[in-house]
Amino acid sequence: AKANGKNGFRFYSSDLNATLERKMTIENELKKAIEKEELFLVYQPKVDLQSREVIGAEALLRWRHPKLGFVSPGEFIPVAEETGQIIRIGEWVMREASRQNKAWQEKGFAPMCISINVSVLQFQREDFLETVDRALTDAKLDPGSLELEITESVMQNVWESTQILKRIRKMGVRVSLDDFGTGYSSLHVLQNLPIDTLKIDKSFIDALTDINQHAMVKTIVELGLNLNLDIVAEGIEEEYQVQVLTSHKCRIGQGYLFSRPVAPEEFEQLLVPVQET
Ligand code: C2E
Ligand code: CA
Ligand code: CA
Ligand code: CA
Repeated sequence: AKANGKNGFRFYSSDLNATLERKMTIENELKKAIEKEELFLVYQPKVDLQSREVIGAEALLRWRHPKLGFVSPGEFIPVAEETGQIIRIGEWVMREASRQNKAWQEKGFAPMCISINVSVLQFQREDFLETVDRALTDAKLDPGSLELEITESVMQNVWESTQILKRIRKMGVRVSLDDFGTGYSSLHVLQNLPIDTLKIDKSFIDALTDINQHAMVKTIVELGLNLNLDIVAEGIEEEYQVQVLTSHKCRIGQGYLFSRPVAPEEFEQLLVPVQET
């Protein structure tokens, strides 16, 4: 038993070392990722659930490292948040998505809104609004073409966050509450939150396989519509989910059923050029 315990400990300890080492590697390599142009964005369409037309996109960050290969955002974003690197990276995301959106508009595609994910650490910085303003000005992008996806974690400071949100929306930039339903924002808070969009978390969409779970989605959609918000269902993979969602008046969706997040060249194929007059 003693030998086992010892082995067990050794196993655990080397496991832990490997985890720490991987984290340190990521932290170090991430420092150079922007200048080495290893970061890029992929775009996942948001579609009108009735017409199936692409009406916008969410930009999602990707990292391809020459030695590590693809590192998923689920792995490197928490590291970037822990080390503060998310500030620089997040700013790069905002600038790149704005530049790309403008480029599509100039190519003659109908103006659309592209959303980006914003870490609570970016959001709470004093210079956040300036950063947003600078990104838009430099890209010459209309503020209404940018949406910031924030999570319920910003609600830990409701009053402060509300002030920031008000200023963002006064600029004309849109705000979406991501992963809705997984956090702890109360209905009271939601009611007074200056946002434009509610994004129903994938877990609720997955749960539509169970007919007893439909009430949750129905309730969220009704709530959002009553508050005059756009409702986006994320993580749609099956046709029947679309049927249930549309029956509950949810009009916008995103998910593998329509398209995975794709490179800009591929996304462009999904867009319809504006008719010449
Ligand atoms: P999220 O914001 O909730 O993004 C949705 C995630 O679900 C994306 O994973 C997307 O690829 C995936 N997804 C979309 N449709 C489906 C579907 O039908 N089925 C399944 N199984 N998955 C689907 P991804 O790209 O790996 O991103 C993971 C998370 O990393 C994001 O979750 C977001 O929290 C974070 N993230 C990604 N890009 C950024 C960024 O630029 N900045 C920040 N701060 N976070 C980011
Ligand atoms: Ca998101
Ligand atoms: Ca989400
Ligand atoms: Ca998520």
